[in-house]
Amino acid sequence: MRENFTFVWEDIKAEPGQFVTGNVKVAELSHGSPVYIPVLVVNGAKPGPSLWLNGAVHGDELNGPMAIRNLLPKLDPGKVSGIVIATPICNPFAFQARQKNTPQDGLDMDMQFPGDPRGTLSQRMAHVLFEQVREHADYLLDFHALGTPYDALPYTVFKRVPGAGDDVCDRAERMARVFGGTAHCRVDLSGNLNELPGNVKGFLDVQCLLNGIPSFMAEIGSGGQIQPDMVEFGERGILAIMHDLGMWPEHPATTERIARYLPEHPVTLTRRKFLYTDRGGIVVDSAPSGTFLKKGELVCRIVDMFGTVKEVVAEEDLYIIAHRDNPPVDTGDRVSFVGVEWEERADG
Ligand SMILES: [Zn+2]
Repeated sequence: MRENFTFVWEDIKAEPGQFVTGNVKVAELSHGSPVYIPVLVVNGAKPGPSLWLNGAVHGDELNGPMAIRNLLPKLDPGKVSGIVIATPICNPFAFQARQKNTPQDGLDMDMQFPGDPRGTLSQRMAHVLFEQVREHADYLLDFHALGTPYDALPYTVFKRVPGAGDDVCDRAERMARVFGGTAHCRVDLSGNLNELPGNVKGFLDVQCLLNGIPSFMAEIGSGGQIQPDMVEFGERGILAIMHDLGMWPEHPATTERIARYLPEHPVTLTRRKFLYTDRGGIVVDSAPSGTFLKKGELVCRIVDMFGTVKEVVAEEDLYIIAHRDNPPVDTGDRVSFVGVEWEERADG
């Protein structure tokens, strides 16, 4: 719980009871033009926690930013306890390029936190953002989507980080479950379980956890497009978290369109991996996201113009988190993102 405070970030000033939008300069282009990120602040009239909403750290992931810009203007600050601060497009260079990574340095900005004020562009932008997050956020929700070649049902990712403390990781998991989704991924960074290559410690949510700020990733839909059901699901998820934290009086409604993304017993995945193709070709007959496959069942077929060149089958029981939508693949491309270990489901 925080007392009410006036939020100030460069030219943005939000008094308690105000909804304020503005731009914060993060860099300059070669010809001198400034580059800004948009910032939205709903500063509640009543005291309460501070929730930070972040989006587009990967520039082609659009559903989360749309959820933020749709929802926040609808929140009456008079009904809000605490403050919501949003940076829906925190990597404007990758956003402008319609791609995941920052073109100027080729880096994944989400592997650069807490950032470096003397580093490359991505590292500097991460520093500017994280300084504010560290000072002002009690909780953080980081919106992501799958890469543009993939599609998936919405899911969350939360981490167990050595050094972060069980309590902060537990609260991050609670936030993720309140947000909802068809699957929840618990990633234990203490073991040798890293599924992702690269600097996992530089993830925004990991750095938040290490700074005592419960945080998770919401993975909603596919990159490179705006999916109205995923946007609606994201809006509902923000409100559900705000309600759970005592920031918003009403529990959000669930419409028919998104009810299937809020199953009573979502699966909790504890180990994940990518499946790669060793043959080039075109992916067809992909097993859809959200399905369980038994060992030996078909994940997808790789075909060429003369016939089937390869059947990719499950080498163990698995759960399809994401399937490939954009069919052409070269050797070594990912055809599927799967869970290979999960907790026993309550519904058997
Ligand atoms: Zn992402």
